[in-house]
Amino acid sequence: MLRGLWLLVLLGALASAAAWLADDPGDVTLHWRGWRLDTSFSLLLGAVVLIAVAAALLYRLWIALGRVPGRLTKARDERRRRRGYLALTRGMVAVAAGDADEARRQTRRADVLLGDPPLTMLLSAQAARLDGDKRAAGNFFTAMLGRPETEFLGVRGLLIQAMNDSDEDKALDLAHRAYSLRPKSEWVASNLFDLQVRAGRWVEAGETLSRSVRHKLVSGDAGRRGRAVIRYCLGLEARARGDGAEYLKALLKAHDLDPEFIPAAVSLARRLAADAKKRKAASLIERAWRRQPHPGFVEAYGEASGAKDALEQVAAAQRLAELNPGHVESRLAVAAAALDAELWDEARKNLEAAAGDGASARVCRLMARLEEQEGGDTSAAREWLMRASMADPEPAWVCDSCGNWVAEWTALCGKCSEFDSFVWRAPPHVLGLAGEGESIRLASPDALPPES
Ligand SMILES: [Zn+2]
Repeated sequence: MLRGLWLLVLLGALASAAAWLADDPGDVTLHWRGWRLDTSFSLLLGAVVLIAVAAALLYRLWIALGRVPGRLTKARDERRRRRGYLALTRGMVAVAAGDADEARRQTRRADVLLGDPPLTMLLSAQAARLDGDKRAAGNFFTAMLGRPETEFLGVRGLLIQAMNDSDEDKALDLAHRAYSLRPKSEWVASNLFDLQVRAGRWVEAGETLSRSVRHKLVSGDAGRRGRAVIRYCLGLEARARGDGAEYLKALLKAHDLDPEFIPAAVSLARRLAADAKKRKAASLIERAWRRQPHPGFVEAYGEASGAKDALEQVAAAQRLAELNPGHVESRLAVAAAALDAELWDEARKNLEAAAGDGASARVCRLMARLEEQEGGDTSAAREWLMRASMADPEPAWVCDSCGNWVAEWTALCGKCSEFDSFVWRAPPHVLGLAGEGESIRLASPDALPPES
């Protein structure tokens, strides 16, 4: 609107100027090298304007022609880039589909078309790995270490290779490097932690775990539990060195971090009882027994209670059982002590109660002992022993990750190397393994290393 108005004003002004010039065209005479030109002023003005417009148009044409080669090159580069990215995408799809030949072909294509090594190096490495060419893949990953933008990808690729090759020393070095680049990556932090605990580097593993909690990669509870396990392992090392004071300190710290961590609680109770800190040991065991009775506590409780003979052991077991009445471990603790004290009725009463929901192997074995010791009934005893071999297995340390079960708790599963994967529960009943299970069941109450 405003522009139209402006144009009208301009046209009006031009028309007035033309009319004014037509009214009084004027005379102009030019002399140049013997030439003479007579014309009107308005014609000369028209000619000058025309020449200026023609010169401006020619100049623009010249500039436009100058830009043509650049534009052609740019369009060609653009087409090349598009084809390069297409090849890159197809290569990634081929890697995902496991088509090594196609992946290799598309990678080479993308490499030529894009000429951008960081983009194609990872694909090249993956294609080589898919092809089973570990060395070529390793070379690509190593080449990626040299550029800041691909360093992490290179370290990650080499780390995965080292872990697949079970080269734990190399993997640990690479995990450290990856961690320095990306400390907040959950994948990096958890792999570094796993490698550190497998190498027995408890202190470093504890630091990694604490940082993971700070970075919110691990929950506070899981962090405390992990640190309790690490403290306990450090304590076991101190005990192996003969450093009793450090052992006790580690047990106290581990128990403080996670009172429900049974191995530390049992070891601490035994240690305190052995150190004549009987009241402290007894109250620790009583608290633990209320939460989760574990056969490892029974003997230490007798010691902590100052029981001097079999009858006093029965009294201690009864006091413990009252803290968690009805629990099968409470009944078995009293029954075993009563058998030692030859209190047959008390033993039978507790064993029959424990057998209520189906006699477990331990109940059957104690029943066999009762039948044999009380009345010398060997055929009844044999029958109970037969039942023991068929009964459900006793609780043991069962790996949550692979199902492996052992009598003695360890920080790492011997089968799958998982950290802190053992939980105290009944292993799955497997027929044919009864013999193996038997020895483990017998061992389970005293599965923890003896106190020195
Ligand atoms: Zn396992």
